[in-house]
Amino acid sequence: MSAAITLEDVTFCYGKTTIIEGLSLKAQAGDVLSLLGPSGSGKSTLLRIIMGFLAPSRGVVRVRGQVASEAGRVIMPPEERNLAVVFQNLALWPHLTVEGNLAFGLRSKRVPDAEAAKRIAQVLEDVGLAGTHMCYPAQLSGGEQQRVAIARALVLQPDAVLLDEPLSNLDIGLREDLLHLFSKLFREYQTTALCVTHDPWEARELGGRVIMLDEGHVVSTGSLDELDPAHENPFVRLVCRHLAR
Ligand code: ADP
Repeated sequence: MSAAITLEDVTFCYGKTTIIEGLSLKAQAGDVLSLLGPSGSGKSTLLRIIMGFLAPSRGVVRVRGQVASEAGRVIMPPEERNLAVVFQNLALWPHLTVEGNLAFGLRSKRVPDAEAAKRIAQVLEDVGLAGTHMCYPAQLSGGEQQRVAIARALVLQPDAVLLDEPLSNLDIGLREDLLHLFSKLFREYQTTALCVTHDPWEARELGGRVIMLDEGHVVSTGSLDELDPAHENPFVRLVCRHLAR
């Protein structure tokens, strides 16, 4: 089976400034990957390249094995990539109920109403929000809104879910609960997930592989528990110290 997402030697420049340089990675179907890097290391840019909102300056992006973008060109538009995104600010529609938020994407994918209703009921139960169909986002707590956001991604049955610092605005207890929920859901739905974060603890809690980025380069791909405290990269050393605390 083709990998869900493959990046081959991807470089991205804004004008003369190189933001990402020669980056390769492969997310197989069902893989959970964290992209861990400090602020400004190119994580969000990379997600936008994977989504198809930006074309790489060099290299190739494949989705389900097909060339989706190549140097200077988006070949497969974002809506054909079958990727779902959970943004940091969640971007729930405030004027739509929970059901309306989940139905929106299904309608644009022309999923029949009966099938959509079945999927919505199932995913709301799986995220622990059964019975909230008719609530508006503002009537829900921050943690519940977060569950709606992940439900809205999973209900589309995407080839991969991309998460852009989705838990940054929540308190620590809630973040732990949600990370464990996310990891359980990714396993149950056998979803490929790529989660961008600047927080080593979050990357470790999510489980799965961790790819560390610094200044647009991959600086480590191993387990966070096996990092070398004397690593040549200062961000890797910082993460080591942080996790040892
Ligand atoms: P991260 O998500 O890791 O914080 P970003 O991908 O947002 O990093 O940004 C990586 C680098 O690209 C930063 O130095 C940022 O200033 C720069 N950058 C982001 N967007 C633009 C843009 N539109 N024009 C020029 N530089 C940009």
